[in-house]
Amino acid sequence: MIQETIKLYGLFGDPVGHSLSPFFQNEAFKLLGINAVYFPFHVKAEDLAGAVTAIRHLQMGGVNLTIPHKEAVIPFLDKVEGDAALSGSVNTIVNRNGELAGYSTDGEGFLLSLQREADFDPRGKAGVILGGGGAARAVAFRLVQDGLAALYLVNRGAERAAVLREDLRKHLGFQAETVTSRAELEKTAAVADLVINATPVGMYPESQRMPEFPLEHCRPGCLVCDLVYRPLETMWLKKARELGFSVLGGLGMLIYQGMLSCQLWTGRMPDAEPLRAAVMRILDR
Ligand code: NAP
Repeated sequence: MIQETIKLYGLFGDPVGHSLSPFFQNEAFKLLGINAVYFPFHVKAEDLAGAVTAIRHLQMGGVNLTIPHKEAVIPFLDKVEGDAALSGSVNTIVNRNGELAGYSTDGEGFLLSLQREADFDPRGKAGVILGGGGAARAVAFRLVQDGLAALYLVNRGAERAAVLREDLRKHLGFQAETVTSRAELEKTAAVADLVINATPVGMYPESQRMPEFPLEHCRPGCLVCDLVYRPLETMWLKKARELGFSVLGGLGMLIYQGMLSCQLWTGRMPDAEPLRAAVMRILDR
């Protein structure tokens, strides 16, 4: 019921039109029987400070952040907790009586997907992450905290990968490697248990593109993951599957990170399966 007692949540991003979060979170509220509504808000970078202030003034329960606000929002918050404080990337704000706290559920969302959908335990394993943006950072910090033994960072812009490597060393005392040359990439592929695409390469509408990584050098048993979920199976995952590797797409991460945001706001975690079915119905259209 749209009445005074309804709680307002939302997504701040630029663009926001592509996002499944409004559909997902409204389904989650419905499943939990919570009187709340979630709107997409197109917030430009220069309007972010004002939009964050509005969370307090409108007594919103909280918001999600997407591109390009995940890092830029930090100076406007009262506190930043857990993975967000480590990775410097916030995807969820919780409003507790006017105090705004920032969290990141991306890394844990990926980890839950990895454990529950691919039965993969990162402890003692070697991983490769392609990309150096917010998603790559969140996943890297989470996997290292969950016992990944070796991490190789591959990014188009070498500087961003070097910054991530330095931040992992500073905050977690973990020494990751940055990889640039083709020869190094082939050697890295040959020792990896897990390879993750955390770039938008291959995402709709550019679905024909693939990350530049020598999958054919990976060893048997390697798990190949893509954070992209549109299409559900990217060309890259299709190629990996054809080469005989296990694959994991980005849909599970989307679902789990959204469930974790919902839990931060409401104290309750919706079930994954009805949400997955609802999201699949939308993606099928
Ligand atoms: P981001 O902060 O913009 O970072 C993108 C990264 O990809 C940057 O490191 C960038 O390299 C690299 N990149 C961009 N275009 C490239 C290209 N053409 N070739 C090679 N590298 C390229 O984005 P993000 O938030 O990390 O998101 C990355 C991807 O993860 C997106 O596709 C997003 O949809 C997906 N994602 C999925 C979920 C989920 O729930 N499944 C959650 C979060 C993100 P430079 O540093 O050189 O610019």
